[in-house]
Amino acid sequence: MSLIAEKFSQIEPSQTLAITAAAKNMKDQGVDVASFGAGEPDLDTPDFIKRACIEALEEGKTKYTAATGIPELKEAIREKLLLDNNIDYSTKQISVNCGAKHSCYNAILATCDPGDEVIIPAPYWTSYPEMVRLAGAEPYIVETKKSNNWKLTPEEFENALGGATRMVILNTPGNPTGSVYSKEELEALVEVAASEDVIILSDEIYEKLIYNDKKHVSVASLSQEAKDLTITINGFSKVYAMTGWRLGYTAAPQEIADAISIIQSHTTSNPTTFAQYGAVAALKGDQQIIGDMVDEYDMRRQYMLSRLQEISNIEIVEPDGAFYFLVDTTQIGLGSMNLAEKLLSRFKVAAVPGVAFGHDNSIRFSYATGLDVIKTGMDRFQEFCQLH
Ligand code: PMP
Ligand code: GLU
Repeated sequence: MSLIAEKFSQIEPSQTLAITAAAKNMKDQGVDVASFGAGEPDLDTPDFIKRACIEALEEGKTKYTAATGIPELKEAIREKLLLDNNIDYSTKQISVNCGAKHSCYNAILATCDPGDEVIIPAPYWTSYPEMVRLAGAEPYIVETKKSNNWKLTPEEFENALGGATRMVILNTPGNPTGSVYSKEELEALVEVAASEDVIILSDEIYEKLIYNDKKHVSVASLSQEAKDLTITINGFSKVYAMTGWRLGYTAAPQEIADAISIIQSHTTSNPTTFAQYGAVAALKGDQQIIGDMVDEYDMRRQYMLSRLQEISNIEIVEPDGAFYFLVDTTQIGLGSMNLAEKLLSRFKVAAVPGVAFGHDNSIRFSYATGLDVIKTGMDRFQEFCQLH
């Protein structure tokens, strides 16, 4: 007899977290690993954000808050969404959650029933299909093309629609591809979604990490029709280097926002109280800190691009956003799990196998890591590729 619920039988552990844990384990044993694992900024949370949190603690802000967050934070998010993203939400439509991962899960739980299908363009962030399964619904994976910068086309979307389609997940800038959708591309996808009332989960967590003069466009800003179908998700982990604070948020049509509030009131209650005060400071403080981080990531991105372009038996699409390279390893073969294991055990380079993103002939490198590590890691990866 299994002690585990049937619905967990298909759920895989997160490979992004697993490879990072394996690399950390090796480092703890004194092995010099070049880690390109989890997409976690190596830069520290800015001081003024930490100070706001410490002050909140000292002032005794240590008790429960409203389940969906403190009014000051929801107001700061409302203003941010209006000013940065050109979307006019009320604070009642906003819920602060325990990380954007939690925001995505709440959004899926609030909207999807068993039997519903959720369209997920591949390569995808590893947790989307598993969250859909945890909610009892079915992921419907659509392979996108490298020649189209791994972006879902309206035709691919249309062909994937069926009677059970409930939601599509869009992630721009994307993890693991770094792809950025243009306004026109998003408008065409919204048109398809609207034709069948498909809910759009728009994960915009990498919004500010964008290069090559590309511009981020929020799906819900495109039209009232788009806004009425879209759950906008964002958070603090990436742009403010606040991964461990566990803060993300959803902004959604009122019915969905109310359902998320109910789910959260019965599961986590509020996100950590004093962390929320840090998030208020993050949104209200000098946003130049983001510009500085983006400059740093862009410098690393360009360096890594030049190094990867020197390797003849791999292929890459230049990423325009986020902090990842998805490297196509078809010519090397091996299968991504095998390749990642070899790379880690023999060459001391940790990268995430593409199978975790629904694209087996690839491997993902995060450049949210120092330039010295990137240099060492690229030397080792080049040597590995030369030997295969
Ligand atoms: N969405 C995407 C695409 C991500 O890569 C991540 C990475 N963690 C998240 C959501 C969740 O971020 P967090 O829970 O740390 O806010
Ligand atoms: N989102 C990051 C990644 O893809 C962090 C790890 C995770 O939450 O999956 O690596």
